[in-house]
Amino acid sequence: MQIPTRTDAIAIARQRGDRIAGVLPIHYPRALLRAHGVQPIEIWAPPRQDPTAGNAQFQAYACAIVRHGAALLLDGPGRDVDLILVPHTCDALQGLGSVLLDFIKPRQPVLTLYHPRGRRQADRLFLERELRRLGDRLQAVTGRQPGDAELHAAIDTEEAANERLARLCLRQSPAALSDRERYTLVRSREYLPAETFITLVDARLPERQEEAGRPAHDGARRPVRLMLGGIVPEPMSVFDAINGMGAAVVADDLACGSRRLYKRTRGPDPYARLADSLMSGPPDPTLGSPIAERAEYLTTRMRESGARGLLVYDVKFCEPELFDLPQLRDRLSAERLPMLHVEFETATTIAQQTLNRIEAFVEMLQ
Ligand code: SF4
Repeated sequence: MQIPTRTDAIAIARQRGDRIAGVLPIHYPRALLRAHGVQPIEIWAPPRQDPTAGNAQFQAYACAIVRHGAALLLDGPGRDVDLILVPHTCDALQGLGSVLLDFIKPRQPVLTLYHPRGRRQADRLFLERELRRLGDRLQAVTGRQPGDAELHAAIDTEEAANERLARLCLRQSPAALSDRERYTLVRSREYLPAETFITLVDARLPERQEEAGRPAHDGARRPVRLMLGGIVPEPMSVFDAINGMGAAVVADDLACGSRRLYKRTRGPDPYARLADSLMSGPPDPTLGSPIAERAEYLTTRMRESGARGLLVYDVKFCEPELFDLPQLRDRLSAERLPMLHVEFETATTIAQQTLNRIEAFVEMLQ
C-alpha cells in the first residue's frame, strides 16, 4: 500500500462525510476532532506554497510556518478547508490566530487552543478546560456532540497510532526503511487518519522486525550517527543529503516527530485523558519545558541511539528554538555531545552554504 497523499486523504475524508480542518502546529487533540467528524490536515510550511499572500500579512522576520501557512490558507489549497485550528504554540502562531480572527476574517470558523507552559496540576486543569471549550466550539461548527464512549474510542485509536509513531521514531530498522522513507511515514501522521497510519506502519515495520539496538550496516564505513532536531525537516531531501555525507539519522527531536510521542492514558473522563495525553510528551521548548529537563532527555536519547551529535535544522526565526540553544549547547557539550545549529528558509532546495556546514559537522564527528 502506497502512502496516500494529502490530496488523497482529503478526498477520502470527504467521501466519508467528514469535514476538513486546516491545523497549524504543533500539539492538539486529534481524537476530539475525529470524534466530531473532522479530519485534521496539518499545515507545516509547505515548501511548494508561494508565500506571497502570507508575506503581505506578516513582518519579514516571521517564520516560514506562519507566512507559508497563511498563504496556503488564503491563496492555496487551504482555502477549501471547513475550519481552521490555531494552537497557541508560540507568539508567531498566536499572531496568526489574531490576524485571521480580527483582520482577515476568513469564511471558515477559526478555532484556537491555548496551552499551559508548565506541568503542574493547575496547568493540567487549565488544559482540560481549554479542551472542553474547544469541544463546545467543535459542536457549534459541526452540530455533533459525541458521547463519552465515542470520545474514548477515538482516543484509543489515536493512542494506538501514537505507539506506531514511537516504533518509527525510537527504534530503527534500516534494512526495512531509509531515513527519508521512515520520516515520510512519520510525517504522514500529519494528515492521515490514525487507522490508515496504523495499517501503513504495521505493513512496513512490523513489531517483530523492530531493532532496538544499533542499525545494521553493510560492512562498509559506518555512518556517522546523528540526532536531528528542530520543527520540521523541509525539504525532505535533507535526509538524502545527510546520507550522502556519510551520516544517518538515528534519533530525532523534531516537533513533527518525537516531540509528539504522547503516552497511553486511562480514566473515566475523556477530556481528562486528552489533557493527560497532551502533557505526556517529551520536553518541548514550545511548552516551556525547563532547559535542564530537555538537556537530560536529549542526552539520554542520544546515548540510547548512539547519536554522536545533534543537528538542529531549524526554521529561520523560530524563537522558541532559539531561546534554548545557548544553554543547551553548553549542557550537551559538557556531556561531549556536539551540536550544530543551522537555519533554513523553506524552499524546494537547500542552500549550499547550509549543506557545507552540515558536511563539516559530519566530518568533525567522523
Ligand atoms: S517555527 Fe517556531 S516560531 Fe514558527 S510557528 Fe513553529 S514554533 Fe512558532
